Amino acid sequence: MSSERMIRLFDTTLRDGEQTPGVSLTPQEKLEIAKALDKLGVDAIEGGFPITSKGEQQAIRLIARAGLRAEVCGLARAEKLDIDTAINCGITGIHVFLASSDIHLEHKLHMTREQMLKQAADSVRYAKGFGVKVEFSAEDATRTDIEFFKQVVKAVSDAGADRFDIPDTVGIATPQRITEYVRAARSVSDAMISMHCHNDYGLAVANSLAGVLAGADQAHVTINGIGERSGNTSLEEFALGCFNLYGWRTNADYSLLYGTSRLVARLTGIVIQPNKAIVGDNAFGHESGIHTHGVLSNPSTYEPFDPAMVGRARWLQAGKHSGRHGIAAQLRGMGLKPKEESLRLIVDRVKEIGDKGSSVTDSDLYQIAVQIMGGGSAEKNELVELEGLEVVTGIKRLPTATVRLLVRGHLHEATEVGAGAVDAAVNAIQKIFSNIETVRLKEYHLEALTGDSGAVADVTVKVEDDAGNYASGRGMKRDIVVASVEAIVAGTNALLAKKQDLERTKDLEPEKPAGPIEGI
Ligand code: MN
Repeated sequence: MSSERMIRLFDTTLRDGEQTPGVSLTPQEKLEIAKALDKLGVDAIEGGFPITSKGEQQAIRLIARAGLRAEVCGLARAEKLDIDTAINCGITGIHVFLASSDIHLEHKLHMTREQMLKQAADSVRYAKGFGVKVEFSAEDATRTDIEFFKQVVKAVSDAGADRFDIPDTVGIATPQRITEYVRAARSVSDAMISMHCHNDYGLAVANSLAGVLAGADQAHVTINGIGERSGNTSLEEFALGCFNLYGWRTNADYSLLYGTSRLVARLTGIVIQPNKAIVGDNAFGHESGIHTHGVLSNPSTYEPFDPAMVGRARWLQAGKHSGRHGIAAQLRGMGLKPKEESLRLIVDRVKEIGDKGSSVTDSDLYQIAVQIMGGGSAEKNELVELEGLEVVTGIKRLPTATVRLLVRGHLHEATEVGAGAVDAAVNAIQKIFSNIETVRLKEYHLEALTGDSGAVADVTVKVEDDAGNYASGRGMKRDIVVASVEAIVAGTNALLAKKQDLERTKDLEPEKPAGPIEGI
């Protein structure tokens, strides 16, 4: 196959994509997506199925009048009323369909093969009379007897169809089956051949590529692969496959793929799975230490292509699989250059959070690093250690906390209630200290580091004793109660250490000089 081959992208995000359960776009939203698709560079935009509703007609009219470069197409059954309604929307292309498989002919259409052939050819001739591009789809083509399929292709081609589409309506085809059908169509027609694949076995993209490999000129695609049931051929996967894997060109500006994908996800409300190729969150993410190290020395070690090509950037995930290299690089990007020892502590901390099943976002990592690089109090000999914490909370019950602290080697336990879980834990700590030292919580400050509910809670406290000594402590954990208790324990340790230093200084009160200081 020559690398000069141009493959057409027939986008059906607004038609088959809109048939995704739960998706319903307003005419304005459809127009917004159509404009984005046009900018992206698709060759045809199937705006909808006009006969189905007034809103659908309005949407297609809006798109047809928007002055787009792409062909604006409407879907129609092989019937005059459908075709008239579509044509009245001002479209430049029409997609006429009629099923050709025996299953559909017998159980849905109640029609003989001969009747089907005649109606298909008649409707193509009728549509062609309006001077628009006509694409004919033999619905359920891949379950159609292949000899009859050839008769259909020949009949509609002779009637003037510009393109013949091969729909794998129920998504049961294999690449081998697709190859057979494309070759069969090509053997009886010179019209453009198109693929319409569904992803019921996850083969939509592979089948579409197989179709092109066998000689098809175009594929029906949708942004993010949305569509009925398991969806359609994903535009981004198919287009990149054509260009990067086979060297076939398309008119798409690949750098706009990610933006278009986000727009469609936002307007349809269909979220993209994180592991989705090309546009998923993880598509260019690297978490494992080995991969991260490799990508940093040369991206091609673990990257299929430069993410910038599709409008994205790679990211190195700081998680339990990340190594020192990835984290150090991420920190360098944030302007932080931790010393070896700090870096070790940061990596340990990140892994600790990762082990609990969470990942660490950029801003989490930044805060952790700043805390470790700035604080440097990790190796102190702690006087107070948190041994255990249990919290019970809920509606119509008093929040209760049990705290176990090891204070100078002795275990203390207290259970207290409070206005909330944090308050109950604080009260339990106060209770323990009421018998040992006077330590009071003076200030409490909480900040969530990222927007979601799994974010790291950053708690800063100030504690003081009766003598007016005070110290601050900080705790950072995904659990807000644990973060609070850790902050208080850290503050108490700092306060006790301060007091101990004061005592020591008192003990070491300088002795009176033994004799006169020899002067200079
Ligand atoms: Mn379909």
